[in-house]
Formats: sequence, C-alpha cells, structure tokens
Amino acid sequence: MRTGILGGTFDPIHIAHLHAAQTARHQAGLDRVLIMPAGDPWQKSEHGVSPARHRLEMARLAVEDVDGLEVDDREVDRDGPTYTIDTLGTFPDDEQVHLVMGADAALGIPSWKEADKVRSRATLLVVPRPGVDSTVLAELIPEAVFLDMAVLEISGTEIREMASRGAPFRFLVPEVVYEYITAHGLYAESGSDDRVGASTDTEEVP
Ligand code: ATP
Ligand code: MG
Repeated sequence: MRTGILGGTFDPIHIAHLHAAQTARHQAGLDRVLIMPAGDPWQKSEHGVSPARHRLEMARLAVEDVDGLEVDDREVDRDGPTYTIDTLGTFPDDEQVHLVMGADAALGIPSWKEADKVRSRATLLVVPRPGVDSTVLAELIPEAVFLDMAVLEISGTEIREMASRGAPFRFLVPEVVYEYITAHGLYAESGSDDRVGASTDTEEVP
C-alpha cells in the first residue's frame, strides 16, 4: 500500500488542499491520500481554530465523491500536541508512507520531533506555496520530492478573512463546503464565538 498523508488544520479545506492531494496521488502513484485534520488545539494563543467536528465534516464532504482521497480522524482524538513521528508509528511497517505538504510546512521539518526518523520513515512530497523559494528548500531537505503543481495563492486564513467581511469566496472551496460554512455561520463575525482559542503549535501546522 502506497499512502499519502496531507495534514493540517483544514479551517476550512479548500481547493488548493484538494488539488495538492490529487497531484500527489497522480505524480507519486499513490493508492490513496489521507486528509488528516489536526485535533483541537491544546495551548492557548491569540489565534483560534474552529472545532474539529466542523473541520472534519467539511473535509468529509469535500472528498465524498473523490476516488483515492479519504479523511482520516486519527489525530483528532489525540490529547496534547500532535507529532508526525507518533502519527507515522500508527501505520504498519510495510506501508509506504508519503507526507504531502506545502513548501511553507516543509520549511519547518528540521525542527520537528525526531526529524531524522520522520525523514527516513516517510517520503516527503512538497507542493509549491507562494513566497517559499524551492532552491532554499532543496538545500534544507535534499531528499524531498518536489511535485509539479501550479502555485495557488489561497489559504484558510484568507478565506476566513474574506468570509468575515462578506467578500466572495464561494469558488475557492467545494460547493458542499461553501454550503456548510454558510449554514453554520462559520467565520462570520457573529459565528466567531464557536472558535476555540488556541494555537497552531503543532509542528506540522505553521
Ligand atoms: P491557514 O492559513 O489557516 O494556515 P492553510 O491554507 O495554510 O490554512 P493548512 O491546514 O494550514 O491550510 O495546510 C495544510 C497543508 O496544506 C500544509 O501542508 C500547507 O502547506 C498546504 N497548503 C495549504 N494551502 C496551500 C496552497 N495554496 N498551496 C499549496 N499547499 C497548500
Ligand atoms: Mg497553514
């Protein structure tokens, strides 16, 4: 089994996540790519993250009809910080695991817990992200495989911000995700009470 993992907060999942997952599956010949939302943050900070149930449900809706993309909730129930090395330990030894990530996330790899073990256990598949120089990244992580993907200047931060000021963001997310955001009032100024205060202080969520 050749498996890809795309981890993140997915607040909300958007078309760049889905395009990255599908590009990885195609270019690296993966059987499946797991979209793996991080659990609710465990440490307070000024940045809130929507509750995991919303982030999970949006991800599930987004991949419902997509072959080879699956949502995996194994990190959601874990207490405390999430470390990639622990997540990798939950896969059988004979499963070929690939970590799919944007270049911004890849920059942090050298500081991850047991980074050397992560790097020997999993193949790193990196997709471009605006503002990150791939030459610098290639020097930092020479073994990383750089996927050929259009640079998409989209982020969850930007979508949340657009939603909160009433700017159009409908076509940056799958239609079902747009409907979910609207139905639950996520990211609307009045809906911000639902966000739990806390950090993105896990290593894979910049
Ligand atoms: P936020 O702005 O809240 O951080 P995000 O769009 O960066 O949201 P994350 O959940 O943080 O989304 O990211 C999950 C993974 O997807 C990370 O590896 C990140 O680099 C990657 N990713 C997110 N957006 C893009 C994009 N536009 N192009 C390429 N990779 C992306
Ligand atoms: Mg991010």
